[in-house]
Amino acid sequence: QSKKTAKSAEGGSYGIGLPDTEKGVVTRFPPEPSGYLHIGHAKAALLNDYFAHEGYKGTMLCRFDDTNPSKEKEEFQDAIVEDLALMGIKPDKTSYTSDYFEEIYQYCITLIKQGDAYCDDTVQEKMKQERWDGIASERRDSTVDESIERFEEMKKGTEEGLKWCVRAKISVDNPNKAMRDPVIYRCNPEKHHRTGETWKMYPTYDFCCPIVDSMEGVTHALRTIEYRDRNPQYEWMLDALKLRKVHVWDFARMNFIRTVLSKRKLTKLVDKKVVWGWDDPRFPTIRGIRRRGMTIPALREFILKQGPSRNIVNLDWTLFWATNKKYIDPVAPRHTAIAKEHAVKATVKGARMASYTEDKAKHGKNPELGTKKVAYSTDIVIEQADAQNFGEGEEITLMNWGNAIVRKINHSMNPLHLKQVTGLELELHLQGDVKTTKQKITWLSEQGQELIPVQLVDFDYLISKDILEDGDELEDFLNTNTEFRTDALADCNVAELQKDDIIQFERKGYFRVDRPFQHGEPAVLFNIPTGKGGK
Ligand code: ATP
Ligand code: MG
Ligand code: MG
Repeated sequence: QSKKTAKSAEGGSYGIGLPDTEKGVVTRFPPEPSGYLHIGHAKAALLNDYFAHEGYKGTMLCRFDDTNPSKEKEEFQDAIVEDLALMGIKPDKTSYTSDYFEEIYQYCITLIKQGDAYCDDTVQEKMKQERWDGIASERRDSTVDESIERFEEMKKGTEEGLKWCVRAKISVDNPNKAMRDPVIYRCNPEKHHRTGETWKMYPTYDFCCPIVDSMEGVTHALRTIEYRDRNPQYEWMLDALKLRKVHVWDFARMNFIRTVLSKRKLTKLVDKKVVWGWDDPRFPTIRGIRRRGMTIPALREFILKQGPSRNIVNLDWTLFWATNKKYIDPVAPRHTAIAKEHAVKATVKGARMASYTEDKAKHGKNPELGTKKVAYSTDIVIEQADAQNFGEGEEITLMNWGNAIVRKINHSMNPLHLKQVTGLELELHLQGDVKTTKQKITWLSEQGQELIPVQLVDFDYLISKDILEDGDELEDFLNTNTEFRTDALADCNVAELQKDDIIQFERKGYFRVDRPFQHGEPAVLFNIPTGKGGK
């Protein structure tokens, strides 16, 4: 329903009728350089980009919210720039909250001088309790001079200064707890990755965001809905400082089942080596989902289809991967891989030569993808799982070759008394109708080509519970085994695949090449989910 409204309103297909757009809009994406971008950030970035460049005429800023040196790093900042570019998002300008530290400092002095802010040294736990209970801090009625002096100590980062923070004097007991004298400056003696040792105190997001939004000419600040309680506070800051107004516009946070999107939690998983790194294919980072085989046009389509709805939902990954499949299926070259374990050798009678090769289309419906070499011979391998289903005398189909009759099945009993096929004799029956056979199997010729060793990797969710609730410890809900490797042999053409190529192994699914083949080392390919089974 919300989608319909969005589509019919002005401002492009996702227009939601932003107010005051006649003179153009300026939006901003404000990442904190404290981690890699994830799919939730992608939504924020794409919406800002969309409103500025497609929905309305305007400008999009990317502003690094670099106000906490304990969490932020240049590495993250660089990765964010790269990932935005990768998503096709081109900010018209990139800036840093740290560019404005001097101005923000001056604004804080203004607030203090107006009697709209005060320094406080109440210990954190007590301050929290007082805010909760609606009790005024002992320091609330400090004089302007006292607060200015303390603020200067904070600025110098002296031992005394480090005990203090600055709070906006808004309200003691407003029912909206965000309005209860929020902290606007706090000390941090750590070195900042851009401003170095210049500052020992930093403005909080609540304080610098409205100021810099206003200074940079932002007309519409998009924020996720959980900030809604803080909207009055945002306005209060602008009012108190007599700054230009900014429209705040809320949109729903994007959540996925069995997925954490908190940078704090993701950092923990990286640090504890639960994953290989920020680009782990099990991670919801842009790099992670790309490494798993997500394509950028599909990502954009998926996110923009969510639209600017305000309902927070826990999406499952099905639709996400189904969207991707739509993009990769028409362009993924077809190849063949046979699981190595207990692979069955079969001899084929009736082939036109003992061994020959032909050029065949890489994709039956897309000739633009070119051709590949297919080898045919009297010696082929097939999968054990397929061979188990055959009966003597049965007519089967060797895919992309034709029908054959199973003349002989050799088998043995393994120690668990399970039948294991050890060899097969097949006789081609090419005039047979492929529509009538039950078994249509993949196969690879052992002659006429070099079979390429490959490792096929499938993944499971890192998290074992659909939705983590407050109080759930991440550590208690981690799946222990999330990586599944299968050794297989692939057709000779697979040797030429490059990193990031996306292919289909027939009857197995879509795969992305994570490590191309090198002699002596198998190629490594990651299974790309298609939405089936939700993975
Ligand atoms: P943390 O996990 O540390 O809370 P954050 O999500 O606040 O990080 P930021 O770098 O501050 O990370 O976010 C940049 C922008 O992305 C903000 O506008 C934020 O609201 C938005 N954003 C973050 N997570 C999501 C999400 N899951 N869905 C939609 N937007 C999001
Ligand atoms: Mg943030
Ligand atoms: Mg946050």
